[in-house]
Amino acid sequence: MKLSEILNGVSKVGITGHIRPDGDCVGSVLGLYNYISENMPDIKADVYLEEPGSEFGYIKNMDAVKNSPEDVVYDVFFVLDCSSKDRIEPFAQCFDAAKKTVCIDHHVSNQGFADISMIEPEASSTCEVLYKTMDADRISRSVAECIYTGIIHDTGVFKYSCTSKTTMAVAGEMMEKGIDYTDIIDNSFYAKTYVQNQILGRALLESVVFYDGKCIFSVVTQREMEFYGVTGRELGGIVEQLRLTDGVEVAIFMYEVGEDEYKVSMRSKKQIDVAAIAAEFGGGGHVRAAGYTARGTVHQIINCIGELIEKQYNAM
Ligand code: AMP
Ligand code: MN
Ligand code: MN
Repeated sequence: MKLSEILNGVSKVGITGHIRPDGDCVGSVLGLYNYISENMPDIKADVYLEEPGSEFGYIKNMDAVKNSPEDVVYDVFFVLDCSSKDRIEPFAQCFDAAKKTVCIDHHVSNQGFADISMIEPEASSTCEVLYKTMDADRISRSVAECIYTGIIHDTGVFKYSCTSKTTMAVAGEMMEKGIDYTDIIDNSFYAKTYVQNQILGRALLESVVFYDGKCIFSVVTQREMEFYGVTGRELGGIVEQLRLTDGVEVAIFMYEVGEDEYKVSMRSKKQIDVAAIAAEFGGGGHVRAAGYTARGTVHQIINCIGELIEKQYNAM
């Protein structure tokens, strides 16, 4: 379904994405916001998101992002890159009050919680799905920067198995809009602050392999995060480095968010369905990249994940 169809006769639109917004979330949310504000001047749009990282500072209209919900009844409320309603807190009140809700996403775990769902699990990113809802000739350079950002983040710069011929074609079209793709990749994806590199080094140093070297895990505690002065959002990329370890099939990275509470990230290479494991614990994601919030000690959490990994291997 095209945006022009959904937005025909509409005057108030709200847009949000998931908590702890990543590149695909920021890219799709701001991409949609910019597309509407540039092409549909009669529509008043609001954009809600938890404060995005400074690496996305090049994206147009970042300063329009509202961090707390407002008491507005939207004609249409969009939720992007989000597999379940509980991940849009604290903006669920805007969703509940809206006359019509639309979800654009690519998570296999998405059950379709909105009035209109456009979910393509085989798409690399929400940005790739979003692109199809737009008219190609109305995509500006600033919208192209957003879409390209989402694609490179969710494909790990075109290397994960979710990357398809369509992904490359859409990225190519975005390049034709005159974006500085080298800068976008370097500055939003690869660049790390000094402390990010330090904590990455520490997490690698203290990582533990188990299950005959097929699995690896590492943990960062709140004390360590305070010591280095980093937030959970700045720890992205650690799990990817763990995954690259020779012989490893599953990488697990977690950071402490409270007493006996951890944000768990899992990545796999070719065999293990980590989305299925995350789903067992109330989380979600994709076959090769998934996460959830876990309760318990590190050992309990790793044991639970380990059992499910073993089950999957035994069923092969
Ligand atoms: P992360 O490890 O946080 O980078 O997440 C990997 C993938 O799993 C992303 O596509 C997330 O959207 C998804 N994901 C992470 N945590 C959750 C969760 N608690 N519930 C549903 N999906 C999640
Ligand atoms: Mn995301
Ligand atoms: Mn995504």
